[in-house]
Amino acid sequence: MKTSELIKIRKAMEKSLDPKRYEHTLGVEFTAAALAMRYDAPVLSAQIAGLLHDCAKCMTNEKRLSICEKNHISISDVEKKNPFLLHGKVGAFLARTKYGVEDRDILNAIRNHTTGRPGMSLLEKIVFIADYIEPGRKQAPNLQEIRRMAFVSLDRTLIKILEDTLAYVKETEADVDPMTSKTYEYYCMELDAENAG
Ligand code: FE
Ligand code: FE
Repeated sequence: MKTSELIKIRKAMEKSLDPKRYEHTLGVEFTAAALAMRYDAPVLSAQIAGLLHDCAKCMTNEKRLSICEKNHISISDVEKKNPFLLHGKVGAFLARTKYGVEDRDILNAIRNHTTGRPGMSLLEKIVFIADYIEPGRKQAPNLQEIRRMAFVSLDRTLIKILEDTLAYVKETEADVDPMTSKTYEYYCMELDAENAG
């Protein structure tokens, strides 16, 4: 991908997302770029993934479900009940088919940006974290601390975000994608192993 394609995608996002979502998207784009610089990840990939991560957010649940059905994308029970959870999967599909992204790592970063997954790549971690800390975010608890932490240790930041997310869904009794807990447990174990070794 080249810079010209980045500009094209940015324009397409401005058209297809509502203004607030577009602003969030730009925030994720440049936060992901900054983290990529800090951790030696490909900056352009981080920008593209950041720009496209929510490309399936501004559509109806019916539309998301029908894209999945038509294209044989599997839907879990939690996803069926809460189709907004599908925006990562559908987003990755659109990134490939509509926006011409072929890079697996970028597609995975889009696919897994809401829940994370065990064994994430550097780019996946960057997009996941950028989504949470971008400048437009105001609500999350411990945001100031997490923003500082993001430029010190990606894995610790990841754990902190997952922990706060799980606490929040527990409090609000919202449905949680089981992958969020799986990812959390995986990275807690990783950190324990690191501390023990
Ligand atoms: Fe999202
Ligand atoms: Fe987002």
